[in-house]
Amino acid sequence: MRFADPRLDRIRAKVCARERLSRDEGLTLFETGDLLGLGWLADHVKTRLHGDRVHFVINRYINPTNVCVLSCRFCDFARKPGRPGAFEHSIEDVLGMIKDGVHEVHIVGGHHPEWPFEYYERLIGAIHTARPEVQIKAFTAAEIDYFWRRWKIEPKETLQRLKAAGLHALPGGGAEIFSRRVAKALAYTGKADPDRWCEIHGVAHSLGIPTNATMLFGHIETLAERVDHLLRLRTQQDASGGFLTFIPLVYQVGDTKLVPRQTPPTDALRTIAAARLLLDNFPHVEAYWVMLGEQTASIALHFGADDVNGTLEDERIAHMAKAESPVGLAREQLLRMIHDAGKTAVERDALYNVVRVWN
Ligand code: SF4
Repeated sequence: MRFADPRLDRIRAKVCARERLSRDEGLTLFETGDLLGLGWLADHVKTRLHGDRVHFVINRYINPTNVCVLSCRFCDFARKPGRPGAFEHSIEDVLGMIKDGVHEVHIVGGHHPEWPFEYYERLIGAIHTARPEVQIKAFTAAEIDYFWRRWKIEPKETLQRLKAAGLHALPGGGAEIFSRRVAKALAYTGKADPDRWCEIHGVAHSLGIPTNATMLFGHIETLAERVDHLLRLRTQQDASGGFLTFIPLVYQVGDTKLVPRQTPPTDALRTIAAARLLLDNFPHVEAYWVMLGEQTASIALHFGADDVNGTLEDERIAHMAKAESPVGLAREQLLRMIHDAGKTAVERDALYNVVRVWN
């Protein structure tokens, strides 16, 4: 591979020697004009870790409620109580959403002003009792922090109780961009800040609960803020070691319109590749097809991603922000996305146990 940008030669030498990249090198990854060279480097790392395997899961996304006390400026999902579009699901409603064959449920929601913590604890327990074969990935660090703010239950106790009820893992949401400047501008200072978000993931890891991590990008953040976000996650992973997957989330313009249009696919590919190269201690990097679109997600499998998430069935957060992808995909569509990229599809569960290899 001949790089158009000679700075990538130095980075290649470090990547091949399995040396950690610096902040300046992280910035180079985001600034270089040699997108294909960047993709080659990220694909080299992905192949070293996973060969040509790409993971997916038969899962179900569930949002118990979109009622939320906060008003993050990037969010099209939340509603105030009683307002048009607000919804609140009972535990029975949620149980009815989980069909046979699902390996993972992914549960996140608004910061409800009145629902007691016991609702969430009972919810996890009811799912685990009714569907013991299903792994439960539920509640972002921002929601765990909210249980402290609202009900004064420490994260450690919250996580111990949820784990006892049947929780397997935490999703990676609520991180947004680790930047005080952006948090103020987009009115999300009322939720877990970067230190608190990382602290809660560290507590989860210490309790044997694996977690994911995200970054919301493509709005008003700078490239340096993206690099700093990734390096903060890398530092936390060094400390607590329980992150499974990094998932870059493309901001959906929807009605919030922080920027005139969605960031282009080339920026998404660049971000996935840079993440794969900087997060040398993360096992997996995901191309989340809902926010990327199926075609870009398929290309991202050559830019460092080894996972496409899953079938989802009824995704709402991105679709209330007018994401153009379908609200769910059948297993056959996921297989086509992966096979079209020339990769081997590996069906997994929430914890990356292999369910089946689809050649
Ligand atoms: S992003 Fe989460 S916390 Fe913020 S308004 Fe939306 S639902 Fe509420």
